[in-house]
Amino acid sequence: MAPGRFEKSFTQQTPIPDSGIEAAVAVMRSGRLHRYNTRGAEESEAMALEREFALWQGARFCLAVASGGQAMQIALRAAGVTPGDAVLTNGFTLAPVPGAIAAVGGRPVLAEITEDLVIDLDDLAIKARASGARILLLSHMRGHLCDMARLVQIVGDLGITLIEDCAHTMGAKWDGRASGSFGLAGCFSTQTYKHMNSGEGGLLTSDDAAFMARATILSGSYMLYERHGAGPAAEVYQALRLETPNCSARMDSLRAALLRPQLREIEAAIAGWNARYDRVAGHLAKSPAIRLPKRPEAETYVGSSIQFRLPGISRARAKAFVAVLAAVGVEVKWFGGAEPVGFTSDHHSWRYVAAQDLPRTDAILAGLFDMRLPLTFSLSDCDLLADHILSAVAALQHGETA
Ligand SMILES: *Cc1c(COP(=O)(O)O)cnc(C)c1O
Repeated sequence: MAPGRFEKSFTQQTPIPDSGIEAAVAVMRSGRLHRYNTRGAEESEAMALEREFALWQGARFCLAVASGGQAMQIALRAAGVTPGDAVLTNGFTLAPVPGAIAAVGGRPVLAEITEDLVIDLDDLAIKARASGARILLLSHMRGHLCDMARLVQIVGDLGITLIEDCAHTMGAKWDGRASGSFGLAGCFSTQTYKHMNSGEGGLLTSDDAAFMARATILSGSYMLYERHGAGPAAEVYQALRLETPNCSARMDSLRAALLRPQLREIEAAIAGWNARYDRVAGHLAKSPAIRLPKRPEAETYVGSSIQFRLPGISRARAKAFVAVLAAVGVEVKWFGGAEPVGFTSDHHSWRYVAAQDLPRTDAILAGLFDMRLPLTFSLSDCDLLADHILSAVAALQHGETA
């Protein structure tokens, strides 16, 4: 019997916890929405979020900002990137990553990825030497962590500063160590489709006091940098307070109020995503035609989306495969299209970046599919989704969708 149509939305999130709604209403009633609009010794919601996120992440410092993209731009600038500098990143990531490099006038230098969707460390070393880049903005794209021990070794040997884009790895770990803690800084997003939802928002973490002081002033702290929940001591600012521009990218207390209860519940959310991921992955693993990225022993992942490859699939068949699934309500995105659809842009559509040859990445993306797994899906929804995908793959093999 053919499985029934899938009816749920792929972009519907779970509601904000009641305690977050109440805290947000309290902020609105107070009228003090701006993070620095505090009374006496009062701790603003933004300050409290910074303190709590730093503790959870195991970082000395945390700065709340307006978006994940802003966290990356501020991190690059606070790390010393100046216009014209080469900045390494993965050839497969989402548009805000090359966008952040472009925003600070940097030149993105793209490294190839592997079949497991992580940066190719051999290519990274080659590109690092050839470009002379001093910075790597490493994107843990779709929640896949490369061999972080080897990466740290490589960047250490080459004298490269590491900044991690953890938009998809909030809560993920390598060998028990939190993603975002392997280099100078970690950048997180709290945009609706990430692991915590404040509509828009970002968090930047680091253990480096001078870096975080520069980042805080860049984020638009005026001279109110002492009103931060997990910031460096006031004296760290003395040397740089008048040298650093204010680029206005603060998070407000309303968003912070929405996020604090979500952080308290994040371990349960992670378990929920992983139960869904493992359920779908378990079914897909039964098809020899489908390749799932390897999940190394050392990796603790957060499966808020799933990726799979159909190696060697033609463009026409990939399009037909996506269309067949869309017709039964299953939203699978394909990263191999010539034109970006929604978030699926690839490096060919970043025309502000100097064109680069990434034949291995292109070959992988040509057969790469992606599906979100929001917590609004149940485990039986996951069974149904996998059924549809397996049927569509079987139909492909019988040439029915050619
Ligand atoms: C969403 C995202 C970002 C940036 O987050 P925003 O908050 O939307 O600016 C960065 N990197 C990746 C891989 C993302 O998916």
